[in-house]
Formats: sequence, C-alpha cells, structure tokens
Amino acid sequence: MAKIVLLPGDGIGCEILWETIKVLEAVGALEGLDWHWETADIGGIAIDKHGAPLPKATLAACQDADGVLLGAVGGPKWDGLPGEERPEAGLLAIRRGLELFANLRPAKVLGPLENASSLKIEVVRGVDILVVRELTGGLYFGRPRFREQLLDGGQRAVDTLEYSTREVERIAQVAFQAARERRQKVTSVDKANVLESSRLWRETVMDVAKEFPDVELEHMFVDNCAMQLVRNPRQFDVILTTNMFGDILSDEAAMLTGSLGMLPSASLGGKVGLYEPVHGSAPDIAGKGVANPLAAILSGAMLLRYSLGHARAATRVETAVELVLAQGYRTRDLMQPGACLVGTTTMGELVVEAIFGGGEYGQD
Ligand code: NAD
Repeated sequence: MAKIVLLPGDGIGCEILWETIKVLEAVGALEGLDWHWETADIGGIAIDKHGAPLPKATLAACQDADGVLLGAVGGPKWDGLPGEERPEAGLLAIRRGLELFANLRPAKVLGPLENASSLKIEVVRGVDILVVRELTGGLYFGRPRFREQLLDGGQRAVDTLEYSTREVERIAQVAFQAARERRQKVTSVDKANVLESSRLWRETVMDVAKEFPDVELEHMFVDNCAMQLVRNPRQFDVILTTNMFGDILSDEAAMLTGSLGMLPSASLGGKVGLYEPVHGSAPDIAGKGVANPLAAILSGAMLLRYSLGHARAATRVETAVELVLAQGYRTRDLMQPGACLVGTTTMGELVVEAIFGGGEYGQD
C-alpha cells in the first residue's frame, strides 16, 4: 500500500491532481499497486484555513508518507502579504522540512509536440534531458548575506557562494544513479575556471564518478552549457549542476519542449520525495475546466519511478500521455490547427483509457 499525501494548494491545483489520482489508480490496477490517499493544505488555502502557508500537521503528514504530490500554490488574493507569509513560503518550508536537496526536471520533447518549440524541429527532435539541480545550498543559501551603507553614499550588497564536499557528493550521487537508468552520461556544469567553489565541485564529482564506472562523465562551463542547450541539446543526458546554475539552465532546457503545461518535476534527498508540475496555480483559468493536467500526471509518473521504484508503471503512464497526444488531443494551452480540443477531465480520462487500452505499452 503506497501512502501518498496530496497537496492540491491553490488555483488549478485541485483540478490537475484529481486527474493524476485517476491515472495512478488506473496504472495501480494493472500493476497491482494499492494507494492510500490523504489530503492536506498548503499555500493560500492553508493561510485562509490555518493561518500559515505550511501548517505543522501538513508537514507531519508528508513526513509519514511514501510520496507527496503537490498541485501549485499562490494567487492574487495573497499577493499583498509579506514574503514569509505568502503561499510560496510554504513551498520553501516543505522543501526544507523534507530535506529535499535534489531537484530533478526532465525536459523531453515528445514526438507529437516537437513543433511546439520556438527552436527548429531538427534541433529539438528527440531531446530527452534530465536536469539535476542542487536545491538547498550554494548562492541562494550561503551566509553571510547582507547590505551595508558606504561612506560614498552608495551601498554594498553581499551574497555568499559556498559548497561543502558532502553537499556535492550527495547531489552527484543522485545524478549518477539517475544516469544509470537512462543513457549513462552525466554532464557536470560549473564555472571552475573562475570560482573556487566550482573547483571543489568538479573534484568532488570526479571522485563520486569512480563509484559509477558505467556512467560517462564530462565537465562543461556554465556559459558553454547555456549555448550548447540551444545549439545541440541532443548531446545531453543528465545535467548535474549547482543551485543557481540549475535554476537558469532548467528553465532554458524546459523551453526546448515549448510547453509549460507538460513539465513535471521531482524533489528528492530526504526520506520522502515531493512531485509537482513546474507551472504555477494559473489563477486566470482556475475553475474553468481547461487546465492541462499532463504535467501533474507526468509528476505522478516520476513518483512511481523515484519513490516507489516502479519504473514499468511510470513508463506506462508516460507512454499513455504520448499516445493521447499522438491521437491529436490537446488542451487549450497546446492547441494546434487540426487538433481536437479537450478539457481537463477529458484529458485525464483519455490517459486512463490509453493505459487500459495499451497492453503493449510500458513493457521494459
Ligand atoms: P503560472 O504558471 O501559474 O501561469 C502562467 C501562464 O501559463 C498562465 O497564462 C496560465 O494560465 C498558464 N498555465 C499554467 N499552467 C497551466 C496548465 N496546467 N494548463 C494550462 N495553462 C497553464 O504562472 P504565473 O501566472 O506567473 O503565477 C500564478 C501564481 O502561481 C502566482 O501566485 C505564482 O506565485 C504561483 N506559482 C506557483 C508555483 C508553484 O506552486 N510551484 C510556480 C510558479 C508560480
């Protein structure tokens, strides 16, 4: 029995998670997986009901689960609140609370959507990249961090970029493990020609690589990587990088696919993994039944793969999504001439149908 905590959050969160449950129930029925669902509050709804974006009870429920599925948080109703009281503060708090130091973001260009990218089809066709980003260290967390007044009337601002051997080792291990399940190649991205922390990063990654002789390792400077991602993205399998470089490169890689509503993510590291679509709560379309549930459904596939170790079930879900798109069904955000427009619920149902109808899919 897999115990999963659902955190729908705000906006379209509820709509897309509901479709995800239907799909996971379907694949569970085929694969002999039983689910136990528990729902808890995070974000704006948690502020309204409990006075905090991450209530203690929510974190406790997540810590006790086999995996956590999150919709999205935020919306105009809470935009006026100070930073640490906003819905988005709940996201940072849960990542910290669950010790999620590794963020995994796949950027895969699906055949039926290869013309959705702003890049040429010949460049993006077949792209399948996994960005593994360090999530709890580096420039975004380093201390000291301050501003001070200078005698010349201006100010000085300081952020600190630091990494320890242990921090690099553990994220590198996640990347090499993931590469083992894919095409056995890790590109470690740093700025070792300039930064001391990057030199430690590189040395440590090389040490970890010795444990994975079956995985090819290459190093790349971040500026070159940014260029290579749009020049020849097919050269990449797993990109391993720091918090800030990963923040930027994962968005760049995501855009190769051309569609925000399709991008899942996983945050790993602690005992329990957290899975969520990359997009936000889309308040402009909430409640209209038009949201694309596929990023959330694909996040469910990542949960199957990384938290439950069920790669075959994950592949079944991913293949079903691709099949539905190949049949020409699109939610509004992906709509193309000649395609068949469907809403959130129908898209979920089509994926369920494809799972049941696709006996030949998902075989290892
Ligand atoms: P957004 O991702 O919510 O929306 C951007 C655009 O994409 C909108 O036009 C929206 O309608 C569309 N869109 C997003 N997801 C879609 C889907 N599944 N199907 C169809 N269309 C989709 O980003 P935003 O508008 O900048 O932010 C809205 C709120 O979400 C803000 O409060 C922001 O802070 C929050 N946010 C939350 C997360 C998160 O929970 N992880 C991430 C980003 C933004």
